[in-house]
Amino acid sequence: MAKIAFIGLGNMGGPMLRNLLKAGHECVAFDLSAPALAAAEQAGARAAASPGDAARGVDGVITMLPTGTIVRAVYGGPGGVIANAAPGTLLIDCSTIDVASARAVAEAATAAGLSMVDAPVSGGVAGAAAATLTFMVGGPPETFEAARPILAAMGGTIVHAGAAGTGQAAKICNNMLLGISMIGTCEAFMLAKRLGLDAQKLFDISSKASGQCWSLTSYCPVPGPVASAPSNRDYQPGFAAAMMLKDLKLAQDAAAGVDAATPLGAAAAALYSLYCNAGHAGTDFSGIIAMIDGSDGSPERQ
Ligand code: NAD
Repeated sequence: MAKIAFIGLGNMGGPMLRNLLKAGHECVAFDLSAPALAAAEQAGARAAASPGDAARGVDGVITMLPTGTIVRAVYGGPGGVIANAAPGTLLIDCSTIDVASARAVAEAATAAGLSMVDAPVSGGVAGAAAATLTFMVGGPPETFEAARPILAAMGGTIVHAGAAGTGQAAKICNNMLLGISMIGTCEAFMLAKRLGLDAQKLFDISSKASGQCWSLTSYCPVPGPVASAPSNRDYQPGFAAAMMLKDLKLAQDAAAGVDAATPLGAAAAALYSLYCNAGHAGTDFSGIIAMIDGSDGSPERQ
């Protein structure tokens, strides 16, 4: 079992840390939030005073933070992870951030004699609690192999995506596809309603036909056909629209940086921006069906 520092103890990091502790790892924790740090201590971790303090004398450091700017700040500078970790320490950033920040931090870590992977996740808060997250990992093969047993305490599927930054690339490509497919699914149900086609009938047909996709069959935005979908619980997340918007913006920034035309990704980002600005940032992302339908957002109007 390893000595692991965990930095960023929010909705995702908190339960991920608890699973590391459950697996028998010895953990030291850091977060700017005093309540989050106190909860980690209560779960059995030792509290650190700063990222650098957490990174001293451990085998590995895991971060689960909101943005690329924060990740750069936590790893960089004299009080940061890179300046304080012993040579050979394994660094794993699980945050969802821009590819450029992921590559810049990995480069700085490597130059300092540390090994690093970007390992963003899919599976949400439920997956973090149940230790069933999917990890998409970017970095050298030997670093991926070193990270695998630690990630296994927090997730079910662990995939090596390629070199540094490709974990983040996989995450934003997948979520851009998800945002687009959700909007397409919502449009189909809205059109069906106006054409007098029953939503359950469209589901029965399209789930067995060429329109089949995850947004339809596992996460149907209309209440009824998929019992476990947020549409059946007033669009409580699930996966909040604000999170989808964050990932769609990351995809747009990445696309601009490599001159990739992603017109449907751009449209999805604009629609989720409208939806979030209308006060629905905390609603599940499938709730956008109300906006596409032109209704007031109440499920009975779907
Ligand atoms: P969160 O806001 O609940 O947690 C972030 C934590 O980081 C907070 O406790 C905050 O205090 C801490 N923090 C911020 N700046 C810090 C700093 N400088 N030093 C130390 N701690 C700092 O966010 P979350 O939902 O846990 O998401 C974390 C990451 O996981 C994000 O990148 C998000 O995009 C990604 N993600 C989230 C989900 C989800 O469903 N919540 C799913 C997949 C990926």
